[in-house]
Amino acid sequence: MRFLKLIISGLVFTVIYPAWSFTLNNTVAATFPGNDVPVNVAAHTCNNLGVSNQDLLEMVGDAVNNYWNQAPNSRLRLRKGSLTSVSAAFQTEPGCTSTAGGSCTPNPNLVVSGGILISCNTDTGSPANFSSGVMAVTIPNNIQDRNINGSLILLNDKVDNSFKNKSHDEQVAILAHEIGHGLGLGHSPVEDSLMYYASIPTRRSLGWDDLDGLAYLYPTGQPFSGCGSITLNHDDDESTGQGPGMFAFTMMLGIGLMLGLRRLKTSGLWR
Ligand SMILES: [Zn+2]
Repeated sequence: MRFLKLIISGLVFTVIYPAWSFTLNNTVAATFPGNDVPVNVAAHTCNNLGVSNQDLLEMVGDAVNNYWNQAPNSRLRLRKGSLTSVSAAFQTEPGCTSTAGGSCTPNPNLVVSGGILISCNTDTGSPANFSSGVMAVTIPNNIQDRNINGSLILLNDKVDNSFKNKSHDEQVAILAHEIGHGLGLGHSPVEDSLMYYASIPTRRSLGWDDLDGLAYLYPTGQPFSGCGSITLNHDDDESTGQGPGMFAFTMMLGIGLMLGLRRLKTSGLWR
């Protein structure tokens, strides 16, 4: 019986003890209310980034599809947007008018009306956007209540920016990391995460902590299909047969539990 208690308490601990490490970049856990979030690129020319706006837009497509849209546990579907005309302020002004106490007061001249906007920025304003080595600054700068209406990603387009020296794949990962901030995620202390504070040149996918963070902010809706029934149909073209697989898993788990209980009874451990 003591053996059984140990197993049960271990299972309960596993179920109720939170194992994630992700953080949020705002105190209200704000999220985009809709599932479809476009990521646009400002149409102005980037002076020192080493890539054109069209290149950036193509990289955005890879960043959303190779990273965030891979998450099976999120309602969110990010979309490569378009080249978007914005005021010259996005190219030169600071993202925050104040950073006192580590808190950003968003610059009202750079409010993003919808989705996520990426803009090159030469950082001639004050306070400075980029301290040495910083490749980008991202601010969900249009938040109402718990809704993010728009987020701004400013890419360091100064002469000495380090983005231009990265490989294409690492540049895509850097954009995906910044998009993660635009969605409301902060940094993760787990090195195996896209949201780890430092760029890892070999990174090509999300880590478990990224998936946890995205599922926390943007959980998949679970359609109710009747008590105890298992839906075998999927509403998209990317069905991987999870329904039958889940049914088989449930059956095997049930049979395994029955056999385990019978063995415990015959061994005298279960009374
Ligand atoms: Zn970051």
